[in-house]
Amino acid sequence: MLLNAHRIELEGQYKDWILLAIEDITDRRAIQQRKDDFLSIASHELKTPLTTIVGYMQMMNRLMPENASDKFKNVVDKTSRYVHRLNQLLGELLDVSRIQTGNIELHPEPFDFDRMVMETIDGIKAASPKRNIELVGKSGTNYNGDESHLVQVISNLLSNALKYSPENTTVTVQVNAISDFIKVSITDRGMGISHDEQAKVFDRFYRVGEIQRHYPGMGIGLYICQQIISNHGGTIWVESEKQKGSVFSFTLPVNR
Ligand code: ADP
Repeated sequence: MLLNAHRIELEGQYKDWILLAIEDITDRRAIQQRKDDFLSIASHELKTPLTTIVGYMQMMNRLMPENASDKFKNVVDKTSRYVHRLNQLLGELLDVSRIQTGNIELHPEPFDFDRMVMETIDGIKAASPKRNIELVGKSGTNYNGDESHLVQVISNLLSNALKYSPENTTVTVQVNAISDFIKVSITDRGMGISHDEQAKVFDRFYRVGEIQRHYPGMGIGLYICQQIISNHGGTIWVESEKQKGSVFSFTLPVNR
């Protein structure tokens, strides 16, 4: 809805008028709906052939002859990694489309929260062996939640922390149990996010400014994280200072 104040001339005299203009948002909704439908159809259509390619890539790795040349092994290895990345990106697009249609399903089961955090860090370390990631504290909690979705949240936040900070800096993961909450904070000493942008980074497809052209991404990771955390009854937020770094934190309520 738009509220406009105008000064207009009426019978030779100026009068101040307030005009109420009610914008028709039906068109905008229809366009958004078409975009959401396209995203949903495209990601579902791509899923089947990609799943087949992933299967064939695994078979190719298994069937690789012992005496295959290093060059050939290298090509297969690189192809596998890119196929894996493509599969992850498509998974994120499917998540967005599920969120839009309210179909993101959680399957809560009790699991050791600290083990989950450690395994997730190990997985990220394996993919970025040059980077230093330190873990501080623990929750001591057998948490009742959807483990694979929470792995996705921590992986996303950690990957961002590594992506948007220089190689020679450390990323810290801090886990605490605070009364009826688990709190996780991921701190980097990277480029940081301006105060104005901080409120927008959790929006769908939002990426900060020009500099992001140099970094791969679709601007949906944080949107998905926010949905997963809020579906667990928790809260996620960022504190950041330009050129100093960022702290992404989330809390999860625990029924003890
Ligand atoms: P992506 O990283 O794929 O662009 P995200 O949704 O994960 O998408 O993040 C949205 C945007 O928030 C990023 O494009 C980036 O501009 C900003 N951002 C996220 N994490 C950080 C971080 N740790 N440091 C600086 N900027 C960040």
